[in-house]
Amino acid sequence: MTGRATYGFDTLQVHAGARPDPATGARQTPIYQTTAYVFRDADHAAALFNLQEVGYIYSRLTNPTVSVLQERVATLEGGVGAVACSSGHAAQIMALFPLMGPGLNVVVSTRLYGGSITQFSQTIKRFGWSATFVDFDDLDAIKAACDDNTRAIFCESIANPGGYITDLDAVAAIAETQGIPLIVDNTSATPYLCRPFEHGATLVVHSTTKYLTGNGTVTGGVVVDSGKFDWSQNDKFPSLSQPEPAYHGLKFHETFGNLAFTLHGIAIGLRDLGMTMNPQGAHYTLMGIETLSLRMDRHVANAKTIAKWLEADPRVEFVTYAGLKSSPYFERIERICPKGAGALFTVAIKGGYDACVKMVNGLEIFSHVANLGDARSLVIHAASTTHRQLTIEQQIAAGAAPNVIRFSIGIEDVNDLIADIDQALAQATSDI
Ligand SMILES: *Cc1c(COP(=O)(O)O)cnc(C)c1O
Repeated sequence: MTGRATYGFDTLQVHAGARPDPATGARQTPIYQTTAYVFRDADHAAALFNLQEVGYIYSRLTNPTVSVLQERVATLEGGVGAVACSSGHAAQIMALFPLMGPGLNVVVSTRLYGGSITQFSQTIKRFGWSATFVDFDDLDAIKAACDDNTRAIFCESIANPGGYITDLDAVAAIAETQGIPLIVDNTSATPYLCRPFEHGATLVVHSTTKYLTGNGTVTGGVVVDSGKFDWSQNDKFPSLSQPEPAYHGLKFHETFGNLAFTLHGIAIGLRDLGMTMNPQGAHYTLMGIETLSLRMDRHVANAKTIAKWLEADPRVEFVTYAGLKSSPYFERIERICPKGAGALFTVAIKGGYDACVKMVNGLEIFSHVANLGDARSLVIHAASTTHRQLTIEQQIAAGAAPNVIRFSIGIEDVNDLIADIDQALAQATSDI
């Protein structure tokens, strides 16, 4: 199916990028469980290796099942191309790889997924890259953090663990002035709730592990390019604008125009870093995406109902959910995430650390796991798990204070979820 702009989201999530299998007529996208592809002849092989003809060589680079997923996510985001990867964290490295080099930096939000904070503050240093962390509500601080060596600005649309919505338009304007791309991790929002390219972002990354797949079965990631950034506007991006030594001197931007970033990601990123998504994983994610809008509507409706119920409960100190009128970010939802503020939020429980531990032990439908964005409702007490190595001050700054638990609200019957929370809260706060 083609005709990107003409169909609605609900149609595109089922059809974009897919067509009946040309060999068999199979209606569902087959799982092309193959490593290699037979060349028609030696000239065909040479044309493929020269990137003169589009086709399949080896599944570290491209695979037909994975290609359908790439096309589908690119279409849902309104981008020109996408590269699927083995995980969300792989997608983040793949997004930065064509832009960065030793001595260069990226300006990132302090409100990021915990794993991203570690990746950016520690691991990327091994490549000679660095990250400067700033509060993205302080636009002057973002500007001040950008220097001649900054090659990207990175943030999340709805920041995990929820309750925070980034003013993407304002941040994109800063990136534009600097002549650098804004990269948005759109995992918590999905393209159904937020379309970062409409707010000026250049690249979007996802952990497809979460809502896009939607049932906690596979890890995966994707990098999507808006195709709108001019990589030759300055001399900051030589891998794209200058002869690329890693591909016999090919000039990607001059040769491929708005597909330069995507083709660099495949021809060099996947070829040499090898963070490839496998066809089985792509299959599960494609099946998940078919119902994305239906699930997200239910996730958001359930999250709103439960957050309101909790906020009114005397056993609760506060709830941070941008979908509540009490949230300082409530005003931004209409503009940035018009279909809702997602389904992740934190709750502070009277009774502190001990009450939170009893609460997660007492819940029956909610599973205590280090994951989010599953059809199932999930909960985690960060202070005793993912954030336990941090000091109390660091835990509070990360929105993971000892008295706080995080919910990822699923698509079950909302009355069952409220009853479950009610009985667990009763156990947790019985002696206060
Ligand atoms: C889970 C997650 C990631 C990392 O993705 P993996 O697939 O686990 O590598 C990155 N960003 C956000 C917002 C996430 O929720």
